[in-house]
Amino acid sequence: MNIWFLTGSQGLYGEDTLCQVAEQSRRIAEALPMPVAWRPVLTDAASIRRIMLEANADDSCAGVIAWMHTFSPAKMWIAGLDALRKPLLHLHTQANVELPWSTIDMDFMNLNQAAHGDREFGHIQTRLGVARKTVAGHVSDPYVAERILAWARAASGLAEVRTLKLARFGDNMRDVAVTEGDKVEAQLRFGVSVNTYGVNELVEVVDAASDAEVNALVKEYDERYRVAPELLGERRESLRYAARIELGLRHFLERGGFGAFTTNFEDLGGLRQLPGLAVQRLMADGYGFGGEGDWKTAVLLRTIKSMAPGGTSFMEDYTYHLTPGEELILGAHMLEVCPSIAGAVPACEIHPLGIGGREDPVRLVFDAAPGPGIVVGLADLGDRFRLVANEIDLVKPPRPLPALPVARAVWRPRPGLRTSTEAWLTAGAPHHTVLSTAVGTEELTDLADMLGVELLVIDADTTVRQFARELRWNQAYYRLAQGF
Ligand code: MN
Repeated sequence: MNIWFLTGSQGLYGEDTLCQVAEQSRRIAEALPMPVAWRPVLTDAASIRRIMLEANADDSCAGVIAWMHTFSPAKMWIAGLDALRKPLLHLHTQANVELPWSTIDMDFMNLNQAAHGDREFGHIQTRLGVARKTVAGHVSDPYVAERILAWARAASGLAEVRTLKLARFGDNMRDVAVTEGDKVEAQLRFGVSVNTYGVNELVEVVDAASDAEVNALVKEYDERYRVAPELLGERRESLRYAARIELGLRHFLERGGFGAFTTNFEDLGGLRQLPGLAVQRLMADGYGFGGEGDWKTAVLLRTIKSMAPGGTSFMEDYTYHLTPGEELILGAHMLEVCPSIAGAVPACEIHPLGIGGREDPVRLVFDAAPGPGIVVGLADLGDRFRLVANEIDLVKPPRPLPALPVARAVWRPRPGLRTSTEAWLTAGAPHHTVLSTAVGTEELTDLADMLGVELLVIDADTTVRQFARELRWNQAYYRLAQGF
């Protein structure tokens, strides 16, 4: 995905000055934290409108950064900004860091006047109601670079979800409310298309996997994981069947161009195991996934995975450690936690599963690596979608968990378990989430703004009283923002 870098100026300054503008603009573009496609300096309304239309039409363009190096009278930008349908970042910077106090003259002043030009540009964006992120500061400032990079990541997530295709094997788990949702509204709001396939269509592809493919994949398991002795010996056939499921799922998803999928343990058709290992490995390769038919979390997972490499997994709040002063959340799932968040080489094990009524499923077992992260959930409130994020600190489990046969993450939610959970429940946020150590609040805020979806953040500064007020205000705001 490309980000385009646009520079605003005008013809008044003459060719020499415009050459300097172009040269300095190239230097700023090269100093950005990610590669960008530099575009020639813009000096008139027709070329500005033309380049915005080109950005819209180019599927590889994820967003546009604009900087008014000099003064660019903003009426020139009206038609272009009005036409732009890609995310916009207004970068308020300048070529130099220090002023050359002893030599500064009017030529320098006229060349380096983003302080002036960007104010004119900010005015017209606000006047037109243009959604954008504004970042101020020199690009050599790490904080500025971080904020620009977060926006670029959000833009690539947006580009991904706009064309995402999701395959559901079976429907949602019976009677569950929060995994339901309006799939037509989701396609309109996010772009993703969500469609269901009979699970036996998958079973056919699973059964069709060749023995040679299965042999090769099982060998890969042996090399990459700490495979349990029984899976190397008397229960080898179970591992081979797990490999068969992975091959089938992978073929099905690749053939259909799907980037995300769901399963439901209530609807396994001819599958002999609930897919565990297969789902974990597909998540690690970037696929979105949601258990129990949870397509919204699967969409969110794929979107966030496409924003940044690193640790990002399907997650479920499972149980609490409530010792006063040491409160923790233990998150896991029946099987499906992504090894991208693992702190060490996962163990590959087989254990009985009380639900689903099938053969014992193979799964990867590990503890999530400690460090700062975020959990984020997507709910359908009936009239709109709501994202809720909680900043967390993943910790090493206080004690080993030798009897727990699934991968797990242990974390301390900010600002603490009581406030975090009271806010989460008040917001009506789900029990399925995406847990990520690869993106944070900044990326999610930018993504939510690009999508026009509500985002509530629970962080170190959250109080329940303030959070409840924000919910009430948002209730009014998002209804008004949708129009009548
Ligand atoms: Mn679940």
